[in-house]
Amino acid sequence: KIKAINVSFGYKDTEILKDINLEVREGEFLVLMGPSGSGKSTFLRLLADLEKPNSGEIIINNKNGISDIAVVFQDYSLFPWLTAEENIVLALKKRLKGKKSKKELFQLAEQYLTMVQLGHATKKYPGEMSGGMRQRAAIARALSVGSDLLLMDEPFGALDPITRIQLQELVLQINQDQKKTIIFVTHDAEEAIMLADSIVMFSPGPPGKILECIDVPFEKPINRNELFESREF
Ligand code: ATP
Ligand code: MG
Repeated sequence: KIKAINVSFGYKDTEILKDINLEVREGEFLVLMGPSGSGKSTFLRLLADLEKPNSGEIIINNKNGISDIAVVFQDYSLFPWLTAEENIVLALKKRLKGKKSKKELFQLAEQYLTMVQLGHATKKYPGEMSGGMRQRAAIARALSVGSDLLLMDEPFGALDPITRIQLQELVLQINQDQKKTIIFVTHDAEEAIMLADSIVMFSPGPPGKILECIDVPFEKPINRNELFESREF
């Protein structure tokens, strides 16, 4: 269960978020939308425990206590001195401490990179990849963490439309098959409607508040796969 109770946050004297109340169900796909500067990334940073609220409380737990959290930031943060596969092996090592051989870890890393269509670029360093490739490598790394909560901040912003749709399908699949809770920021309304179980709108700041929370009725007449198939290129 993920819950924000009366959460307020600001830097020094600028208030950025005010009285945010939000509850996210386990396995929910929640999309955050709202104007630039309304505090969406800040809210994700609070959820990831990278900032502490000035007041209010954030509760994140699962059956076993505190959840692991994986984050894909707006500015994909890969280690530049490691190749794509080494970046992922590093995350896998943390999760699978001593349970897998080095060879198995690299095989797994390759599988994650293949999921994001980077099977051909496992040995590339971030500096040798395009923006979209780096973003996909960051997504692969976030998936490899094996957390039950995934925070994604405009993860598909820099991708071409075809790759974008492939990755939208991938995150939907992960959300459904692995019952992973996903909180996802986007400015793209079409993407939001396609992915979300519910959409939260942040109002223009400062200070940011939640304007409304819309449940996307999901046993929709059109199911998600049909939605993808119905698109024309
Ligand atoms: P976008 O859609 O452009 O990504 P956002 O909704 O994610 O916008 P945030 O990045 O959360 O917005 O920023 C919210 C506000 O907090 C902005 O006014 C920004 O200037 C301010 N802010 C963000 N980081 C800091 C910081 N480190 N110090 C001071 N102010 C900050
Ligand atoms: Mg942002």
